This record gives sequence, structure tokens and C-alpha cells, in this order.
Amino acid sequence: MRVLVTGGAGYIGSVTVEALRARGDQVVVVDNLATGHRAAVDPAVTLHEADMRDTARVIDILRTERIEAVVHFAAYSLVGESVSDPGKYMDNNVAGTLSLLQAMRRSGVGRLVFSSTAAVYGEPQRVPIDEDHPIAPTNPYGLTKRFMEQAMECSAAAYDFRFVALRYFNACGAIPTRGEDHDPETHLIPVILQVALGQRPHLSIFGTDYDTPDGTCVRDYIHVADLADAHLRALDRLAASEPSLICNLGNGQGYSVREVLDTCRAVTGRDIACIEGPRRAGDPSRLVADATRARNELGWTPARPDLRTIVEDAWAWHNARPQGY
Ligand code: UDP
Repeated sequence: MRVLVTGGAGYIGSVTVEALRARGDQVVVVDNLATGHRAAVDPAVTLHEADMRDTARVIDILRTERIEAVVHFAAYSLVGESVSDPGKYMDNNVAGTLSLLQAMRRSGVGRLVFSSTAAVYGEPQRVPIDEDHPIAPTNPYGLTKRFMEQAMECSAAAYDFRFVALRYFNACGAIPTRGEDHDPETHLIPVILQVALGQRPHLSIFGTDYDTPDGTCVRDYIHVADLADAHLRALDRLAASEPSLICNLGNGQGYSVREVLDTCRAVTGRDIACIEGPRRAGDPSRLVADATRARNELGWTPARPDLRTIVEDAWAWHNARPQGY
């Protein structure tokens, strides 16, 4: 299959590119390198440095590369930043995806795998969260992703278009050659590992007064290689002409910030300093997936569900590349 991966120079995108190549798919990457890294894309893979909002350019790439399906990662994904700068998220996430949808339609490409998020659910009314849980995002990031799911539903109803939207819970971990490298880093596990490496003085725990067993937020941490595997399965589903699908990707197991910190201390063998700080705007207290639909519809089972394994893989990556790419 000839697959265009947008955001293929980013964290989850670059791991998915490697998984696609490993099974023999032809992969082309589009990335504007705003947050991605050229070094995250193997030199053997064509990397078009382009912005998704440049519709004419994307049409040209889809046609000249004879693309059959698109996996769309290119987006901003920080909850806190989306609260302080929502316009940035509307512009890139919404306008960028609408531009892609238009480019696909005009190029006759009708299959899309879309990066969505557990942030579409907002503050959970029940846990674990299945896809029928009410949708009420508590931050602009989640809002932009939900809007794009709805835009794709409209396209699927009207045009020759089908999609799979994958609602990630907390992506983490690494493969030996690809891992997390954000600047600034804000995600919990890499932040903790930067403290372990002596690159930060301490972890700030964002809120200790949540209605959770230890007062800190609970999240469902899912290995990036398992996420990548789900994208391959989603592409296969679309190639088999099956209907559009929205599904959660998570392990179904929640860990608090303190539990993640303890696991990182155990894996690294280092005494990682932490301070207790205020809540971060937009953070729901608990996000834990019911991923039954992904199991049933995609045949997806996480191969690395154990938090210790996830942290070990992340630690191997950060140790091998303490300065990132
Ligand atoms: N978190 C924290 N300190 C940090 C970074 C994150 O306490 O320096 C908490 C955050 O409030 C959330 C969890 O860790 O409850 C996971 O945050 P992350 O930013 O990794 O992912 P998100 O859940 O926002 O997608």
C-alpha cells in the first residue's frame, strides 16, 4: 500500500512509519518540521517539508506519489498550551485537517486514519471510558479533535470517504530507534526521566487534591509501538472496505502521577526529586480506556501493556539520546 503519513517526523508518526516500512508498505511523509525532526525520518523515506494548510501542495503530493491512504498525525497536542493559545490549535489542527480532507477529495484519496484523543471525553462520568461515553472536552485541544471527527463523519456520509479515528489515551514508551523529543517537553514520563538524567531539578506534580486514590491524576499509559500497530490494522480495515470507525486505544489500566514516578524511580534506580504544585488547567482527574471496540473491530491487543516495560523502553531511548535527535 502507498501511504502518506502526515506528521511522520513526530513521535507517534515516526514510530508508525517504521512499522509500516517493516511490513513492506511504501511510505511518504509530509511534515512542516514545526515540532518534528528530520532525523526521525529514515533517509530512504521521502520527506516533503510542507504544511497541511497548503492545500495545493498536498494535492500535488497525493497525486504525484500515487497515495492510496493517509495517516494523519500532523497536529499540536498539548492540553495546557491549547488552553493558553487556542487560536494556534484551531488554525493548525482544524484548518490543517480541513485542508487535508479537501486535498484528499480533490485527489480521489478516500481512506484516512486520524489521530484523535481521550481528551474528547472531558471529565469522565464513568471509568473505564467507552466510546459511548458523553463527549464534553474540557480544553481546546480535545475540542479541535472532536470537531475533526465530526467533519470526517460528514465527509463519510456525503463522499466516497471512510476513516478510522483512534482516540489515544497517554502515548509513551519508545522503540530502539525512535522516541519522544519535544521542546519544551511537557509529558509526564519524559519529564520524570529528564529529572533522572539531571536535566531538570525536579518533577512538579500538577495537583494533589483530585478525587483519586492518592490525589494525583490517573491516566492510561499506552506504548507507542502498540499505538502504531493499531494504525496498521486501521489501514487494513479501510483497505478491506469496512465502514468508518471511532475507537479508543488504551490498556484499560490507570496509573496515578505518583505511581508513574515510583515506577520511574525503580527502573532508573535514581532518586528523582519532586514537588507538589497546583493543578494544570484543563486536566481531567481520570482517563482510563475501555478499548473493547478496538479489540473487536481491529483485532488489536496491546503487546506491551505493563507500565514497567513502557518506562524501561522510554528510559533506554532517553539514555541513548539524552539530547534527543
Ligand atoms: N503531569 C505532572 N507533571 C508534569 C507533567 C504532567 O503532574 O510535569 C501530570 C498531568 O497533570 C497529567 C499526567 O501527568 O495528569 C499526564 O500528563 P501528560 O502531559 O503526560 O499527558 P496528558 O494527560 O496531558 O495528555
